[in-house]
Amino acid sequence: MSYYTQILLQLKDTHITFLDKVDEIYLKDTQKALLFYGKLTYSPNECPCCHMTNHNHSIVKNGTRSSRLSLVPISGLKACLNLSKQRFYCRNCCSSFTDQSPVVNQHSFISNRLKQWVISQLDTTLSTKMISRYSNMSVHSVRRIVKDVARQIVPNVSSELPQHLCFDEFKGVTDRDKKNEFYLL
Ligand SMILES: [Zn+2]
Repeated sequence: MSYYTQILLQLKDTHITFLDKVDEIYLKDTQKALLFYGKLTYSPNECPCCHMTNHNHSIVKNGTRSSRLSLVPISGLKACLNLSKQRFYCRNCCSSFTDQSPVVNQHSFISNRLKQWVISQLDTTLSTKMISRYSNMSVHSVRRIVKDVARQIVPNVSSELPQHLCFDEFKGVTDRDKKNEFYLL
């Protein structure tokens, strides 16, 4: 089941072990959803706080922390993953930290797979509201993803004109003086 769940959800992190279990749950009493279960654990090579190499049990397991991640919908239903993350304690710097996975960013409850799906819809004619409906996410969450993408796109602004220019003249209807306008491409 673990292998099939991994293929179904497309969450290919070898540190995640999926349980042989899927529940049908109801969110907000009316919204039916599928709930999968997984455990994230591995042996860290070093402490992310003091960067001390893990040797002679300098980093030990220290309980787990669960979070519910939103996944790409399955068969029209909202899908979630109850991910139990291993916590560790560093005996060198006395700090605690939690396992991280490439399937979800730190402090986020939206899987990167779902974010990718939202981004893939941005070049379609779907409105933010429709993307929100199809992804079972709030409009606010979709807009936040769009803003994150926009932040990564740096416009190539130059103070100089390009070497090759193209002008296109046309009759503008908004010009009160009936003068010609032109596009600069
Ligand atoms: Zn440490």
